Amino acid sequence: MIQDGFQRKIDYIRLSLTDTCNFQCFYCRPRFQETSFSPSNEYLTAFDIEFMFQVLAQMGVRKVKLTGGEPLLRKDMCDILQKISAISQIKDISLTTNGYFLENIAYALKESGLKRVNISLDSLNADTFQKITQTPTFHRVWRGILKAIEVGLDPVKLNIVLMKGVNDQEVEDFVELTQKYPLSVRFIEFMPTRQTVQDQKKYAVSNEAVLNALKRKYDLFPEINTSHTGPSRNYVLKNGLGSIGFISPITHNFCDQCNRVRISAKGKLRLCLLGQNEIELLQIIRQRDANQFEKIFMKSMVFKPKAHELNMRAPWVESFVTIGG
Ligand code: SAM
Ligand code: SF4
Repeated sequence: MIQDGFQRKIDYIRLSLTDTCNFQCFYCRPRFQETSFSPSNEYLTAFDIEFMFQVLAQMGVRKVKLTGGEPLLRKDMCDILQKISAISQIKDISLTTNGYFLENIAYALKESGLKRVNISLDSLNADTFQKITQTPTFHRVWRGILKAIEVGLDPVKLNIVLMKGVNDQEVEDFVELTQKYPLSVRFIEFMPTRQTVQDQKKYAVSNEAVLNALKRKYDLFPEINTSHTGPSRNYVLKNGLGSIGFISPITHNFCDQCNRVRISAKGKLRLCLLGQNEIELLQIIRQRDANQFEKIFMKSMVFKPKAHELNMRAPWVESFVTIGG
């Protein structure tokens, strides 16, 4: 079992597969990459990833999230999924994507072992969507969402970063979407990075305020099926098909229950999304020395901070594109 210095059990790894993206959401702003590609040797390969998760599964990891940048830009995505899903101890594999490639690839992802998917969709309005992502692709992403439901990925979650004056007027539209579709909408608070610290002050919306306003208008019932919830506090509408969740790193800190660490596409272990420590793993993975990998991974756990310090000091993380949010 993997444990950090505060007796938190770590059984969840979020692996970023690339640090580029075909969107440029203004709160993230990665290096732009238009078409799918085979990553160069400085990135973890499908075989590196397979070795790493075989060892991590022996150490107690049960849950994997693939993210990015945009993970579906990688041509070897299905190969990676097949390799991870062949590891019997890994019980849950999910993906966070902008949805652009989903329409074409959702079926193959499901066949390769993907169980569920999170799709970032900050607006239901094509113009607002374009302003946020810098791409005119709302309708394509929406078709990808419907395809994900059709092929049986379950749950299909929508990640929505709420921003004052940008998309916060759409909260009720998203809530009502859960009445018509089996979609789990998740409102996520805008987090400051070095790139966006000014924007965050301007756009920040408190999930607590949103939840209180929604409770005045709708009968929101706490969700009973609580699998796959993580730090999200979830509700359902009466007769709703989906659910409504709130992930509130700013107003409702959930660090005491943190069960995850992150690994970047270039093999750096990141112990906290917003923390400073990084440990180089690429070379150790490439040596295929399971004992050494386990030793270094376990030793690194003492560097996992007790909590993020977002409300106390300036952010040092440049952007979430390298570590997947
Ligand atoms: N490209 C994929 C996507 O957008 O779903 C995966 C990577 S993206 C970095 C992962 C998540 O991080 C997205 O849901 C995105 O909205 C979120 N994110 C990025 N920057 C953020 C910020 N400053 N505050 C809150 N969420 C952020
Ligand atoms: Fe790309 Fe996701 Fe960042 Fe948007 S949030 S720019 S889709 S990596």
